[in-house]
Amino acid sequence: MGDNNNNKTLSFSESVNFMADRAMSVLDIDPGIAAAIKACNSTIKVSFPVEINGKIEVFTGWRSVHSDHRLPAKGGIRFAPIVNEDEVEALASLMTYKCAIVDVPFGGSKGGLLIDPSKYTREDMQKITRRFARELVRKGFLSPATNVPAPDMGTGEREMAWITDTYKHLHPEDINYLGCVTGKPVRHGGIRGRTEATGRGVVYAIREFFRNADDVENAGLKPGLGGKRIVVQGLGNVGFHAAKLLDEEDDCKIIAIIERDGVITNDDGLCIQDVRMHINEHKTIKGFPDGKFSEDGAAGLEIECDILIPAAMEAQITKDNAENIKTKLIIEAANGPVTFAADDILRHRGITILPDAYVNAGGVTVSYFEWVRNLSHIRFGRMERRHDEMRGAHMVQALETMTGKQAEEWMQKELVYGADELDLVRSGLDDTMRNSYQQMKEVYNENKKITDFRTASYVVAINKLVRSYIDIGVY
Ligand code: GLU
Repeated sequence: MGDNNNNKTLSFSESVNFMADRAMSVLDIDPGIAAAIKACNSTIKVSFPVEINGKIEVFTGWRSVHSDHRLPAKGGIRFAPIVNEDEVEALASLMTYKCAIVDVPFGGSKGGLLIDPSKYTREDMQKITRRFARELVRKGFLSPATNVPAPDMGTGEREMAWITDTYKHLHPEDINYLGCVTGKPVRHGGIRGRTEATGRGVVYAIREFFRNADDVENAGLKPGLGGKRIVVQGLGNVGFHAAKLLDEEDDCKIIAIIERDGVITNDDGLCIQDVRMHINEHKTIKGFPDGKFSEDGAAGLEIECDILIPAAMEAQITKDNAENIKTKLIIEAANGPVTFAADDILRHRGITILPDAYVNAGGVTVSYFEWVRNLSHIRFGRMERRHDEMRGAHMVQALETMTGKQAEEWMQKELVYGADELDLVRSGLDDTMRNSYQQMKEVYNENKKITDFRTASYVVAINKLVRSYIDIGVY
C-alpha cells in the first residue's frame, strides 16, 4: 500500500491491525481476547465461469467475515479491478469496528469481485452478479440471518436488486428474503435515504464536530462550519452527497475536487451539482467551465484548506505525502484513506483526523434501518404519520382557542406535520452520528493516554467488543 514500517511494506489489514493495537495498548485487556477481536473469522474465495459474448470468462471474488459476535455480519460488496483478499479482510475488520462505534448490532463482513464493470454491458453484469450471489448463498455467505451485503465501490442498488432476486429464487420459503441485502431500490424493499446515507452521515459528523467548540479550537480552526474551505477527493456516491450538502446547506466553499483524471479548483467554491452534471455528461472533470483543471490529482491533496475529505480509495495519504498535507482537519469519508505510517506523521504534525470507522458509518446505520424495515415488513411512519398530523392540527386549534389568535403560517406547517420515512431515517442517522461522537469524546477526555480521535474510536469499539466476548464467553 505504498507505505512501510521498519522497511516492511504494511498491507491494508496490517495497517488496520496496527491501529487496533494502538488502541488496545491504552486498554488493559486480556491478550487472548485482543487476538480474538483482531482475527478474521473466515474468508471464502470463489472462482466461477460466465459466458460473455460466446466466450467463457472466469471471475474471482471474496467474502470475508471478520466477526460474528453479532449476526448478521454486515458489509458491502465492491466490484473493482484491484480487489484482493487482504483488502477484503481489512475492510471486513473495519466493518466490525464501525458497527460497534455506531451501535449497529451486526458483525463485520465485506466482499469483493475482481472486475472492471466499465468493460461489461448491463446484461453481462447481471449474469456475473447473479452468479456471484449464487456462490455466496450456496457457501453460507449470504442470508438475512447471517450475512447481509450492501453497495460499496462499483456497486449500487441495481446490483443489490439482482442479488436479492437471486436469493429469493434459491430460498422462496424465507419470508424475510428482502433482508438478505441492503441498499436495494426503494420499490424493491429499499429504504428512503439509503443512497445518500454515507455522505449525509459524513456531514452530520462534521456538524457535530463544529458543535464542540473545544475540539474546533484544538484543531486550530475558527468556530463555525460556514465559509470553511474544503477539498474533496472523489465525487462518487459518498463524496458527492457530502460535498453537495456542505455546499448547499452549510455554506462551505468546496475549493477543489480531485477525481481519477485530475483536479479542478476554484477559490470561490465549486457548484457540486454542476460538477456532477459535467462528469455525467463528459465522463471526466476535465473541461468543467467554472474551474481550473490540472492532471496532477495527487497534488490536489496538498492544497491548503481548512478541511480535507478523502472520499475515494484507501491509502491515499501515505508516508510519502503526509508531510505535505496542508489542512487542519481530515474527514475520512473513504475506508482507510490514511495509512498507519501517515497517521503517525499527521498526528505529530497536530492535524486532527476524524476516522473512517466513525465518519462513514452512516451507510451501515441506514442499512440497519433498512434491514429492520424488511424484517418488520412495514415502512417506517406508515402507522403513525396521519395520527401525528391530526394531533398537530388539534394542538394548533387548541392554541388558537386559548390565545384567541391565529397561529402563524410556519407554526401551522411545522406542527401539523407527521414525519415520513425519509424524515425518520435522517433523524435516526443524525442521532447516531451525534451520540457516537460524544462516546468518542468521552473516552478521549477521560483517558489521558488517548491523544487522537482514531484511537478514541477504536477504544469505544473494542470496549464494546470485549464486553460482548466476556458476556458470551468463548466456546
Ligand atoms: N459499503 C458500506 C461501508 O463500507 C456500507 C456497508 C453496509 O451498509 O453494510 O460501510
